[in-house]
Amino acid sequence: MTQTNYSGKVQRVAIIANGKYQSKRVVSKLFAALRDDKDFYLSKHNPDIVISIGGDGMLLSAFHMYEKDLDRVRFVGIHTGHLGFYTDYRDFEVDKLLEDLRKDKGEKISYPVLHVKLTLQDGRIIESRALNEATIKRIEKTMVADVLINGVKFERFRGDGISVSTPTGSTAYNKSLGGAILHPTIEALQLTEISSLNNRVYRTLGSSVIIPKHEHIEIVPKRLGTYTLSVDNKTFSHKNVAKVEYSLDSKKISFVATPFHTSFWERVKDAFIGEFDS
Ligand code: NAD
Repeated sequence: MTQTNYSGKVQRVAIIANGKYQSKRVVSKLFAALRDDKDFYLSKHNPDIVISIGGDGMLLSAFHMYEKDLDRVRFVGIHTGHLGFYTDYRDFEVDKLLEDLRKDKGEKISYPVLHVKLTLQDGRIIESRALNEATIKRIEKTMVADVLINGVKFERFRGDGISVSTPTGSTAYNKSLGGAILHPTIEALQLTEISSLNNRVYRTLGSSVIIPKHEHIEIVPKRLGTYTLSVDNKTFSHKNVAKVEYSLDSKKISFVATPFHTSFWERVKDAFIGEFDS
């Protein structure tokens, strides 16, 4: 039996999937179930709910596809790969997801997103949002850059680069770099160094730094050259970067708050610790 959803309004649902065989099977099942359901309308245009099928990489892509609609869109992820930090359902749990969507009351769980503003030497500005992190590296040689916190010079960095991550991104590249894991209800951004040079001449703090919301970080490269700015799963090259500014975005990403939405610490344990003998 189909229950009328919370708003009495038909929910527009976009299904976004990677090309894997398991993902295509999930897409077919979802299409068959939602196509003739009067409470849902399948459309990639202006969706209320985006169902991402694949892994975290697919959810990152879905986020970037709909980042301009963060005010209205809620995401839900089905994972058909190994690890799922942004995905609540496994590929064999499609019926459970359908049941939860039919009972959905419009509740959501929201997490902070990073706002990145890149200024080039010629004055051009390129703005983007990151769900995991934004990383700046210099291609040709060691990156030399000043790090400013709230406009105040904090340190001069020398090394491979710098990553600034969101709380949900703290378990991704940030963790590999030795950064701390942040619970996503802590509205903060984290700066983590990538292979800094530290000796008697060159000095940086060395540990990662966590900045609260309303504060901002600025990286000012001190050498001309080519830099790469990686924003989640996309990398862009820029010549002559004047500065990169990072702050929390005014918008957040929202997920459908299904009963299945796993607690953050359970995800962390599942992903990095697994079972152990007590
Ligand atoms: P991908 O699909 O190969 O993803 C890499 C791995 O990161 C996957 O196992 C994925 O599940 C995991 N992952 C992604 N987001 C996560 C999160 N928030 N918490 C825990 N694990 C997470 O590659 P992609 O699709 O290009 O994904 C891009 C992401 O990969 C980047 O945002 C970055 O965080 C991560 N990455 C990690 C490293 C590293 O750990 N050395 C290096 C580069 C990129």
